[in-house]
Amino acid sequence: MTSAPLVAVVGAGPAGLAAARQLRDQGGVQVVLVVPEGRSEYLPGTLAVATGDARAAQYRTRVELAGVEVIRARVEAIEPGAIRIEGSWLRAHAVIAAPGLTLDPVGSATSGEIVGFWDPSGAEVAAPRIGAVEQGVVDVVISSLPYRCPPAPYGLAMRLARRARRLGKQLQVRLVTPEVHPLAALGHVLGDELLAGCQDAGVEVRLGHEIDLDALAEGAIAAGTSDRDGADLTVVIPRHRASPLLADLVGANSPLVGVDARFATEMAGVFVVGDAAAGPYPRAADPAAWSGSVAATAVLSELGFDHARTPGAPAPDCFVDHGDGAYGRIRITYPDGPPPRGQPAVAIEPAAPALATDFEEAHRRWHALRVEGQ
Ligand SMILES: Cc1cc2nc3c(=O)[nH]c(=O)nc-3n(C[C@H](O)[C@H](O)[C@H](O)COP(=O)(O)OP(=O)(O)OC[C@H]3O[C@@H](n4cnc5c(N)ncnc54)[C@H](O)[C@@H]3O)c2cc1C
Repeated sequence: MTSAPLVAVVGAGPAGLAAARQLRDQGGVQVVLVVPEGRSEYLPGTLAVATGDARAAQYRTRVELAGVEVIRARVEAIEPGAIRIEGSWLRAHAVIAAPGLTLDPVGSATSGEIVGFWDPSGAEVAAPRIGAVEQGVVDVVISSLPYRCPPAPYGLAMRLARRARRLGKQLQVRLVTPEVHPLAALGHVLGDELLAGCQDAGVEVRLGHEIDLDALAEGAIAAGTSDRDGADLTVVIPRHRASPLLADLVGANSPLVGVDARFATEMAGVFVVGDAAAGPYPRAADPAAWSGSVAATAVLSELGFDHARTPGAPAPDCFVDHGDGAYGRIRITYPDGPPPRGQPAVAIEPAAPALATDFEEAHRRWHALRVEGQ
């Protein structure tokens, strides 16, 4: 008796999870999903954790999927037809890698006037230092592009500013970015809305700033020291790099892996999906999940399971935190076909407290996809 072909999926973010579920649901293969500590983190929870309004644990869950073997480990290396876990190679007919992007270290984790994070775990380390600033200036610095969820740093700045005002703190929040206009790839309207939201929240936005990325690890934002322009605390969205697993697949100038339309890479049998893959869509959950489904469909087709349906186009959907419990929402569609030829159509829902319920509902859906039957 021959056993079913084995497909290995690396990472249980939106991309890896969608790939694993599609492989399982469309059938005929054994699916192994490798998940560090068997846990997954909900990245949009980062802002609430940073301001001390939630704990990272609220945005973390174990991963248990019926019909999928979950290995609690970190993959150490990938090569054609195999992944290495704890020194042993696991052979697979195909590998779908979805490790997301890796964050550069920023300053010291526990002291100094500069903190860097862009996930709930990192935000929890930084939260006491953010909460300790009673007055003065807090800079939110976007260190470089690309970074995940383009509107979220603006949301963090608005959340910090409104929270400080509510608590009676004399705090000026500034958003410093190398972007000449926020989210310019999606046209001007969205950026204009974000700038208006920041103005309304009392956030000063400084566009077109160059940040010295090498200085960040030492706790400065430019070579030399007196570069922070009077900030009492600098909150950095760190440089996003390729996962070390994919280092051989990226060039010098971008952390993103080049892929074809099926998300196959130049390494035979290895697909890269989600935030780690180059593509025309924003770094957001729905495009990540879509890419995982596309790659899974391609793998199934290569293995002779041609009944797998091809997923439709992604529709990125991002919440924008405006602080004080109000969220806006951005929905992007591509009515004229996929980019770069098709132009994005952007729909903006204005900030409202009612959208906080939708934010929590999205979190509940994310959780339910990882722990089935609960
Ligand atoms: C603050 C913030 C707010 C956001 N808000 C939104 C939003 O409102 N809407 C939206 O659509 N998107 C949002 N995003 C973006 C969205 O979360 C990402 O685009 C999405 O998570 C990318 O999915 P992914 O699966 O590619 O990677 P990730 O979600 O980063 O998952 C990668 C997984 O791989 C695992 N991994 C890494 N290395 C290894 C290894 N060696 N072995 C095994 N596993 C490994 C990691 O542990 C992780 O679980 C937000 C992101 C942030 C940071």
